[in-house]
Parts: sequence; C-alpha cells; structure tokens
Amino acid sequence: MSPSGGADRGYLSASMANPAQTYRLRAAASGREALAEVHADGVYVDRETGEEMQPVTKTLPLAPSASSLLRIPENLRACARCDQLIGMDVSDCPYCGLRQEPATGTR
Ligand SMILES: [Zn+2]
Repeated sequence: MSPSGGADRGYLSASMANPAQTYRLRAAASGREALAEVHADGVYVDRETGEEMQPVTKTLPLAPSASSLLRIPENLRACARCDQLIGMDVSDCPYCGLRQEPATGTR
C-alpha cells in the first residue's frame, strides 16, 4: 500500500468512499503487483512489462464500505492484553504478541 508500489490509486482521489472492491493483481512471471478494481470481462496488463495480471486476493476493507482507508476505526480492534489498536485482519498483536481471536466478519 505504499505510494511507490506501482499501483495507480488516482481513481480514488475524487472521493474517499469505497463502493467497489479493490483486488491485488499479480503478473505470474515477474511477480509484479498492482491494485485495481476488477471487472469480470476485463483483462489487466502491466503497463511496464505488458504481462497479463491475474487477481490474487481482495484487499481490505471489503467493499462496499464507508472508506477506502484500511486503518479506519471500523477496521481496528483493541488488543485484550495491551489495549493497543490493531487491524481486524492481524492474527498476532504487533505490540505484545498476543494471539487474537479470529475476526467474526459479522459487521
Ligand atoms: Zn497486544
């Protein structure tokens, strides 16, 4: 999610809303990755190498959500031991190492 990651996030600049799911795309041969909204009939090509890229995973937060930012309060929880705010998708607290309960996904 770094600005230098090669992903074109410009389409998000008009609004912070997150109506469409963003996917992580990967080119099989080079391992290059990009983030993009994926449509079923689309073909995604790395603009640098011309390789076809395949979607490999959805990125958080899952669409639709009120924000495209990963670390908004709705995507955080407090560690039961050290009370630090950590991501819902984190399995071990990065501050104290406590194993976290699985995210329920009920929200
Ligand atoms: Zn902790």
